[in-house]
Amino acid sequence: MPARKDQPKKIKAPVPAKEAPKEAVPAKKGKPAPELLRGFRDILPEEQSRWQSVRDVVRAMADAYSFDRIDTPVLERSDLFLRAVGKQTDIVEKEMYVFEDPAGDSVALRPEGTAGVARAYINHGMVNLPQPVKLWYEGPMFRHERPQAGRYRQFHQAGFEVLGSTEAIIDAQLLMIAVQTLKELGLPTTVQVNSIGTPETRQAYLAELVNFFRPHRSKLSEDDKHRLQKNPLRILDSKDVAVQELLPNAPQIVDWLDEPSKNHFMKVLEFLDEVEIPYVLNPHLVRGLDYYTHTVFEVYEAGDTGERAQSALAAGGRYDGLVEQLSGRPTPACGFAIGMERVVRALIERNVPGAGRPRPQVFFAQLGDAARRVGLKLYEQFRQGGIAVAEAFGKNALKSQLEAANKLGAPFTIIIGQKEVLDGTVIVRDMDSGAQEIADRGKIVSILKKKLAEEA
Ligand code: ATP
Ligand code: MG
Repeated sequence: MPARKDQPKKIKAPVPAKEAPKEAVPAKKGKPAPELLRGFRDILPEEQSRWQSVRDVVRAMADAYSFDRIDTPVLERSDLFLRAVGKQTDIVEKEMYVFEDPAGDSVALRPEGTAGVARAYINHGMVNLPQPVKLWYEGPMFRHERPQAGRYRQFHQAGFEVLGSTEAIIDAQLLMIAVQTLKELGLPTTVQVNSIGTPETRQAYLAELVNFFRPHRSKLSEDDKHRLQKNPLRILDSKDVAVQELLPNAPQIVDWLDEPSKNHFMKVLEFLDEVEIPYVLNPHLVRGLDYYTHTVFEVYEAGDTGERAQSALAAGGRYDGLVEQLSGRPTPACGFAIGMERVVRALIERNVPGAGRPRPQVFFAQLGDAARRVGLKLYEQFRQGGIAVAEAFGKNALKSQLEAANKLGAPFTIIIGQKEVLDGTVIVRDMDSGAQEIADRGKIVSILKKKLAEEA
């Protein structure tokens, strides 16, 4: 295999899609071109090499740690997310794309990946497999939130889930995989971690939290008042200044954890120390989904304190109650998801080159249609022979074709003109020296294999 050539290209950082005009103004000549939905974006070719790097590294990590791939549908019964993510969460309350399908069933575009994985675990009796079951996925998620840089309505996550173990080493290993995946991609990170215990031990803390905020109710935003009433833990996630100012004095959940929860958390931290993953204890870190228990974490780019919203590159934690909540057998579990748009954005900002296409070894130049016919066939023979080849069949002049060959850095160009078509030959041009020789067309693939081997 030829070494992959990095192709640093000038790429503008992705910008949020412009809002589509409410009423498309009819253009003079016919209709205006269709526009993107707000918060949705095209991933254009110039960004794809970075996307490919992210996918490659995620897959390599999944293989190295024996995770099996799973793909669940993008569309599920909305009930799944109501039960899994929680009715009183932002995601379910305001961000889900819910609609009736033609049969009248309430369905939703998945806002995250864990609920579908847990459902599949139950549906396919994975509880009967050797535990824990380790699964990974990658794909688009949908949340109708306010679009801004790093926040889209369709975005992509790559996730890792381990179902069927309570061991603290699982939490630590997943965190390590998240950190190493990003490091492998060229992104140093810092980790924020916390424990939110079990739903039972959380009760006393929640009462304390509500007591703490109650005297300040008048200062709170409508959103936060609502949270305080319905889902008090989520107030810790508020970016509102009123809450931010009160937070330093707010009670910390770690002080309310029962012994088993504390032990679990201590073990996780010890494992992290062991593998030298630096972390910051964030006593107010909670997650936007109700299914979390014990360990919760977020991964940021190094130097990012997490104050800038929409900057977490990955997030996850333990969700011991989820499978049972979905009527499966009690199954402790833990997982995380990487936000792929944010990772690609960070790669672009840091100028980390993407995976790129292999550099072509042979370029194909042709003069006239008869030569094109020969070229079309030869090209495929080269490809089958394992030689990276490129062409400019759309161009006519030899000069512009040779320019294209130079630009791509191909060491050899095959030139076919009228004469070569008739002779059954080709011209081989060494692009460095400019030396040309005639060769038999039938042997050209093996001739070039030899030449390339000599060059290497
Ligand atoms: P945030 O606090 O940044 O909104 P979240 O807690 O809602 O994130 P999770 O549900 O934990 O995010 O998803 C995991 C990761 O997916 C996030 O860390 C982020 O990188 C990415 N992500 C979440 N929502 C979006 C979005 N709307 N657009 C792009 N990426 C997103
Ligand atoms: Mg969010």
